[in-house]
Amino acid sequence: MGDIVNPKQVYRYKQLVKDSELLTRRYECLKKAVIGYSVQGRELIALKLGSGKRKIMLNGAHHAREWLTTALLMNMVEDYCERYENEKNVKILLQDVSIWFVPMVNPDGVTLVQDGVEQFEESDLLIQMNNGSEVFDGWKANIRGVDLNRQYPIDWENIDDQIQKPAPAMFKGPKPLSEPEAKSLYDFALKHKFSFVACYHSSGEEIFWQYKLSGKEYVYAKGFADQLSTITGYRLVDPGPDPSGGGFTDWFIMVQKRPAFTIEIAPYVGPVPVPLKHYNKIWTENKEVGMILARACLYN
Ligand SMILES: [Zn+2]
Repeated sequence: MGDIVNPKQVYRYKQLVKDSELLTRRYECLKKAVIGYSVQGRELIALKLGSGKRKIMLNGAHHAREWLTTALLMNMVEDYCERYENEKNVKILLQDVSIWFVPMVNPDGVTLVQDGVEQFEESDLLIQMNNGSEVFDGWKANIRGVDLNRQYPIDWENIDDQIQKPAPAMFKGPKPLSEPEAKSLYDFALKHKFSFVACYHSSGEEIFWQYKLSGKEYVYAKGFADQLSTITGYRLVDPGPDPSGGGFTDWFIMVQKRPAFTIEIAPYVGPVPVPLKHYNKIWTENKEVGMILARACLYN
C-alpha cells in the first residue's frame, strides 16, 4: 500500500482534497481537474491518470452513505500511479488509455453522513427531510434531498414517483439534471466519450450491467460483465425488460451506447455505510477493475 492514501478511515471530503493535492504533486502521470461544484460549493474533483486518447471513467459516492467507494477509488489512484512508475507494461498501457476517477460525486451528502447535521445551516430543514430524525447514517441523497442516481435523462418520467418531495433517498428531483452534481458528471461524460464506465456503489456484491440491451449489444456488454464478475466474485444482476431508469449507468448504456457497470461493493449491510472491517476484502476484489477496463479499450 502507498503512503499517501489511507482508505481505512472515515474518508472525508477534506481528505480527498488533501490527498488529490499530494498525489498530483508526487506523480507526474496524475492530473487534477474540477468538473463542477456541489450545491454547497464543494469541488467535484476528477483525477486523470495517464495520457492516452482512449478514456475510461470510474466514479464513486453518488450516494452519500456509500463513501467507502471514495476510499476504494483513491486507493486505486495511488496504487495505479505507483505501478505506472514501476511496471513498464502499465506505463505503456496508460500512454494509450487514460483513466479518469471521480471519487466523490456527492461531497455535501457524504459530509452530512460523516459529520452530522449540526454543522449545517439548514439543519432544521434537513431533519424535516429526514423524517424528524437526527441520525443521518442512512442518507443517500444530495443536500437538497434529491437522489443523484435518479437524475439522468433516460426514462426519467417512468421512474416510480412514490416519493414526491425531498427525502433521504429515492426522490428523483423536479426534473432530470436539476442538481449540479448530476449535471456536472453528465457534461463531463458527454465531453469525454468514455469507452467504459464503472459506477461504484454499496452494498451487496453485485454488478448491474444491463439496461434494455438486446442482440449483439447484449452479448458484447455481457462479455465484459462476465469478466468483472469473475475477478470480483460479484454476481451479475439483470433488471429484466422493464427496469426503472434515471441512473448514470442506465443513461450511459443507452445514450453513449457503450458498456457501463454499477458495482455494489461489500456484503449486504443494510441502509448504512459499509463498516471499515470489510475493506481489505473489497480492495482485493476490486483493485484490478480499472486496469481491466483500460486494457479492454485496446481491443474494443
Ligand atoms: Zn448507491
